[in-house]
Amino acid sequence: MEYKYAGVVVNNDSIMVDKIFTYQVPEKLLGKVKLGQRVKIPFGKGDKLIDGFIMELKEELKEEMKYIKPIRTLCDESPLFDEEGIALIEQMKRRYLATYIDCIRLLIPTGLIKGMTNKTERVLYAKEMPAGKFDKSPYIEIYNAVKAENGLYTRTTLSNKFSFSLSSINTMLKHHMLSLEEVIVDRLDDREYGKYTAKTLNAEQIKAVETIMNSDKGKYLIHGVTGSGKTEIYLNLVENMLKEGKDSIVLVPEISLTPQMIERFKGRFGSDISVYHSKMSDGERFDEWMRIKNKRTKIAIGARSALFLPFSNLGLIIIDEEHENSYKSESNPKYDAREIAEFIAMQKGSKLVLGTATPSMDTYYRAKAGELELIEIKNRVDNAKLPNMVLADMREELAKNNRSIFSSKLYTSIEKALGRGEQIILFLNRRGFSTFVSCRKCGFVYKCKQCDITLTYHKEDNLMHCHYCGYRQPVHNQCPECSSKYIKYFGIGTERVEEEVKRYFPSAKTLRMDMDTTRKKNSYINIYESFKKGEAQILIGTQMIAKGLDFPNVTLVGVLAADLTLNLPDYKSAERTFQLLTQVAGRAGRSNKQGEVIIQTYTPDHYSIQYSLGNDYTSFYNREIGIRNNMNYPPFTELININLSSSKVDLLITTIKNLGIAINSYLEDKNNISILGPCPCAISKIKDMHRWQIILKGHFDHLTAAKIKDIVYDSLKNVYTEVRLNLDVNPNNLI
Ligand code: ADP
Ligand code: ZN
Ligand code: ZN
Repeated sequence: MEYKYAGVVVNNDSIMVDKIFTYQVPEKLLGKVKLGQRVKIPFGKGDKLIDGFIMELKEELKEEMKYIKPIRTLCDESPLFDEEGIALIEQMKRRYLATYIDCIRLLIPTGLIKGMTNKTERVLYAKEMPAGKFDKSPYIEIYNAVKAENGLYTRTTLSNKFSFSLSSINTMLKHHMLSLEEVIVDRLDDREYGKYTAKTLNAEQIKAVETIMNSDKGKYLIHGVTGSGKTEIYLNLVENMLKEGKDSIVLVPEISLTPQMIERFKGRFGSDISVYHSKMSDGERFDEWMRIKNKRTKIAIGARSALFLPFSNLGLIIIDEEHENSYKSESNPKYDAREIAEFIAMQKGSKLVLGTATPSMDTYYRAKAGELELIEIKNRVDNAKLPNMVLADMREELAKNNRSIFSSKLYTSIEKALGRGEQIILFLNRRGFSTFVSCRKCGFVYKCKQCDITLTYHKEDNLMHCHYCGYRQPVHNQCPECSSKYIKYFGIGTERVEEEVKRYFPSAKTLRMDMDTTRKKNSYINIYESFKKGEAQILIGTQMIAKGLDFPNVTLVGVLAADLTLNLPDYKSAERTFQLLTQVAGRAGRSNKQGEVIIQTYTPDHYSIQYSLGNDYTSFYNREIGIRNNMNYPPFTELININLSSSKVDLLITTIKNLGIAINSYLEDKNNISILGPCPCAISKIKDMHRWQIILKGHFDHLTAAKIKDIVYDSLKNVYTEVRLNLDVNPNNLI
C-alpha cells in the first residue's frame, strides 16, 4: 500500500489556520513522501504556493472529501524531523496551548526555510589552456589567477577581486578550462582555546558521577553549593558519553555564561563542539544544525533552543543553573526547557541532569517526592570558604542622612578592595520597575492580603492595584506603619550606578553589563574577557552577571537594592531574591582570597534575605513551600495566564470581560480551578498597547486546558486583528 494522502501543517502564523490540512500525494510523489518532510502546497483561495510540513500519512481517508488539493513538490529529500519529533510537537502544542507551526519552528533552523545552504563553490583549474580563442584577454588572465591560487575563489570573489566579468568566467567553465567544486562551509567560531586540564575529582564529585552513570533513575538533580565543581562533573559525564559513542547537550541559561562553558568544554575536548544560541546569525545556526544532522559533532552547548538539535544518539542532557528563568521561553511556544528535556530524555532514553546551588521550588519539591534522584554537594572544591555576607540596612543610612546609593559599609569595602588591587562586582536587579511603593524609613511595602503579592502603583487612576485579583487602594502620603513621609516609589538604573561610581571612585575603571551594553553580537564576550584580564576594577551589571561566572580576582560583591527583586509583584519574588543573593554571593572569593558580599536593603529581616546570609537553602525551602501550600500557588497548582493587549482600550476591556464571563460559565462546576481577574497587568501599557489579564489557578487536565483555549480563541474570532493574545502556562512572571 502506498500513502495517498498527507496531513500538512502550513507555514503561516494565524491561529485561524492552526490545524492539519489534508493534501493528496500526486502520482509522481507516490512512495517518496515521508513524515517530517517540507513540501510546497497550494493554499487558500488563490492557491498561493507556500511551505508546509507533513505530520501524517494515510493510505485512505476516513471520510469522503470533495476536493483535495495535491502537494506540488518536495522541498528537501530527507525529512526534517521523525516520528519522535512529531510526538514532541504534539506534546508542546497540548502542554503550552501553542500552535503547530510555532512548535515545528523550534525543531528546524530558520535559515532552512529561508533557503539557506551551507555549501559554497570553489573555482578550480581544470586543464591546460588550448591555443586559439582563449588566447585573448581576459581569459588568459583569469586562467592564471585561478592557477596561481587554485580553489581559493568562488565565481563572485574571483570576479570582484580582479574585475573579471562573470560571463567570461562562465564561458571558461562551459569549455572546461575551469571547473567548479561544491564544498561545505562552516560559519563557525574558530577562536583558539587554552587547554582546560582535567582535575582529579574529589570524593563528592566522584560520587555524583558514579550515581548518574550507574543508577537507573535517569533523572537527577545536583544541588551543589556555588563553587562545588559542578562543571567538572558535567565534563566527566560528557566524557563518559563520548566513550559510549553517545551525544550530549549542555544547556546554559544566559548568553553571558556561554563563553565560560565553551572555554571549558573546548579546552577539554577540542574545538569540535557545537554552540547554539539566539545571538548567532541564522547562517551560523543553520551550519551548526547541519553539522549535527550530518553527525559531525557529538557535543552541543547552548541556550534552551539547543535542546532541539537533531542528534541521532543522544545520551545526556545537562541543564546548568536549573532554577534560571530563561529556561522558560517567553515567545511562542512558551515551553519550559526542563519539562521538554524530560520528555525528550524519556523518548530517547537519555539521562537528564539538572544542576544548581539554588534549586527552583518546583524541581526541589519533585526531587523530594522522588521524581528525580537528589545529589547534594555541601562543600566547595578544596573546601574554599563561602564569602562573608553582611547586610547594610538602608533605613539606618537614611537616618544618618546618607542619600547616596552606597551604604557607608559598601563604600568603605570598595575603597579597601580597590586599594588591594582586587576586583568588585556591583549588582543591580533592574528587572524591578519603579512601581511599588515603600517606606524608606521603616521598609513597609503595600501588599494584597488575598494574594500576598506587592501592590503596583498605576498613575492613570492614582491607585495601587493587585494585578492578580484586581483589588485596589489609594496611596497614603504617610506610612501606615511608622507615619513617616518617606513613602515613595522606588527606581534606579545601571547608568546611574555607573555615574555614582565614577563620582566617588574616579580612579577606578568600570565596565557595565546589561541589556543595553550587550545588544551587539560578541559584546558580552568582550566585556567578560576584558574584566577577566583585569582591564577594569568594577563590573556593574544586572542579573546577567549574577550567575556562574568564575572571576578569581573578585573579592567584593555589592548588591545595591535587594528590595527590587523582593517587591516584584509576583508570587515567586521571595524565591527569586533567595536565588539571586545566593548566586551573586557565589561570585565573590572563588580563589584562596576571602570574599565579602554586602547586601543593601530596606527589609533586612525578610526570610529570603536572612536565610541567604547563612546559605541555608533547606530552611528557605521549608518556609517558602509552606507559603505556597497555604496560598495555593505552584507547585501545588498550575497557573494559566491569559493576557490580552490592544491599542484600543475599550475594545480590549469589553473583549476580556466577555471572555471572563465565558470562562466563568465553563468553569462553574469545576471547583478545583479559580479565576483571578480580569484586571489590568502590573505593567498596564507597553508601547501604547494596553494590557489586561485573567489568571487561572488550579488543576488542569488536557481536555479542560484545550477547552479553555478554544473559548479564548472563540472570543477573539472577530477582533483578532486588533487584540493580541498571549497565553502562558506557568509563566515566569505575571507582570
Ligand atoms: P560550580 O559550577 O559548582 O560553581 P565550578 O565548576 O565553576 O563550580 O568550580 C569552581 C572552581 O573549582 C573552578 O575554578 C574549577 O576549575 C575548580 N575545580 C573543580 N573541580 C576541581 C577539583 N576536583 N580539583 C581542583 N579544582 C577543581
Ligand atoms: Zn514607615
Ligand atoms: Zn490580590
